[in-house]
Amino acid sequence: MPEQPVDVSDLRTRIREIVDRQPILDIHTHLYDIPFGELLLWGIDELLTYHYLVAEVFRAQPMDYDQFWSLPRQAQADRVWRVLFLERSPVSEACRGVLTTLEQLGLDTSSRDLDTCRDFFKSTTAQEHVNRVFKTANLHSVVMTNDPFDDLERPVWDKGVQLDPRFRAALRLDPLLLAWEKSFETLKGWGYSAGRDFDATSRKEVRRFLEKWIAAMKPAYMAVSLTPDFRFPDDSITSSMLEECIFPVAREHRLPFAMMIGVKRQVNPKLKLAGDSVGRADVSSVERICAGFPRNKFLVTFLSRENQHELCVTARKFPNLMVFGCWWFMNNPSLIEEITRERLELLGLSMIPQHSDARVLDQVIYKWRHSRTLIADILADKYEDLARTGWRIDASAIERDVRLLFGENFEQFLSWNP
Ligand SMILES: [Zn+2]
Repeated sequence: MPEQPVDVSDLRTRIREIVDRQPILDIHTHLYDIPFGELLLWGIDELLTYHYLVAEVFRAQPMDYDQFWSLPRQAQADRVWRVLFLERSPVSEACRGVLTTLEQLGLDTSSRDLDTCRDFFKSTTAQEHVNRVFKTANLHSVVMTNDPFDDLERPVWDKGVQLDPRFRAALRLDPLLLAWEKSFETLKGWGYSAGRDFDATSRKEVRRFLEKWIAAMKPAYMAVSLTPDFRFPDDSITSSMLEECIFPVAREHRLPFAMMIGVKRQVNPKLKLAGDSVGRADVSSVERICAGFPRNKFLVTFLSRENQHELCVTARKFPNLMVFGCWWFMNNPSLIEEITRERLELLGLSMIPQHSDARVLDQVIYKWRHSRTLIADILADKYEDLARTGWRIDASAIERDVRLLFGENFEQFLSWNP
């Protein structure tokens, strides 16, 4: 018997239910599995001192930077709570996110009492909390960001860590690719024959380094974040390392290479992690990469709103380009709304609409709560448009589409051999 189409008057509610029920594969986070110890951040003080909120607290009530940084974390959190939540309404997306997170965890936000929140987090273990957060956010799994140059992280891999299957690795290559003048020395210290001028031996050794870490991490993809002035090709070491090391090794292992483009680093270093900004970048470099390396796969996101439309059009030209996520300063409702509509209209369902970029475990709760609501409503508009043409919309079709957006597109892209 054919499935009954969903009644149009009921469509929006049904879509919201389907989207909420779908477990999500979060393709880019800065979260860590339990064995990485203190690298896994969670709890109210981490939420409140997240760099998005730090930038906002200095605007709302400026204070001496060093004085703020010298405070213990809990005192920094107290200040953020007082200035951004009690002395004015917390309407920014980062502030609202903290409240959504607490509410979804079952805490009473109306009490405005920080110590009750702290007690809640103190009364639980990291492992219990990981389970609780995955359940609350309805997450299938998350992809971490794993940097072999990180001195806290590397020893955990060197010991041969067994990962919880809900945590997958991504091999992050920023220091290697963007700071060769320093990283060649580090490689030498680890026994690689690397030289400042990036000669043939260095290139061979970089490939050996990549092979070692691909074997150790079994990453879902390799990744880098790039500044607005990134150009390809040019005469930089970055360009030749991409062409002669990263792309061939990625191709060999069928690994996508993720490029997150448009971060202007440390425009205000006194803000530390909160000191990075945004700049309009060059989409034609991505076009040249996708055209020049058709047997490589690229996951790409841009930080600047001004690059989004051009990126969508570029993706129409290259099946080896997968557009993903609303990154960082793009991860705000008004922009998610705009970009998601633009992508659906230009690319249909062949994109990955969102990732959380969560740096604190609990943040996945609000990032996905807010995005699920937005994406469900945008999809409802699109299905209503289709229904007006007489096209039958049944629940199983909606479920299939939602599965593509929230995980299957990524999995299929990983296993695809172009
Ligand atoms: Zn990130």
